[in-house]
Amino acid sequence: MNKSNYTLAILKPDCYRKNLVGTIIDKILNAGFIIKKMKMIHLAKEEAEKFYEVHKRKDFYIELIKFMTSGPSFPMILEKENAIETFREFIGSTDPNKAAEGTIRKLYADNVRQNIVHGSDTEINAKREIQFFFNS
Ligand code: ADP
Ligand code: MG
Repeated sequence: MNKSNYTLAILKPDCYRKNLVGTIIDKILNAGFIIKKMKMIHLAKEEAEKFYEVHKRKDFYIELIKFMTSGPSFPMILEKENAIETFREFIGSTDPNKAAEGTIRKLYADNVRQNIVHGSDTEINAKREIQFFFNS
């Protein structure tokens, strides 16, 4: 399987709290992504810390871990040609104030931390993140 056609997305706890899970899944499917695998998981602190370990020296790290463990998340493997880049464009910039019109974060995110959705940023990270949640 060509990993560049796969990315790891997560619908974050704010997505769940705002009752947006169905809406975002609908948009993901309408944008041509195929959901290969998906699950609902309430991340433990150690799991969130491991997933975001690349950010552990950032000033937002502790609040990020609190947020990501604050409720259910929905990790999923998405398939599409050039999935990583295409999905990053689809969700928009990390900060909704900087995200392009029509992107998920522009439409639905409250702020730079509570930004509804995660998307892998490189092929190496997509591979690691898919392995992290699905051992595949
Ligand atoms: P992205 O999710 O767009 O790849 P990063 O990898 O830089 O963004 O950051 C991971 C997550 O950490 C973001 O999605 C967001 O939830 C949170 N985050 C990033 N930057 C900030 C910040 N300046 N303040 C608060 N939270 C942040
Ligand atoms: Mg990132």
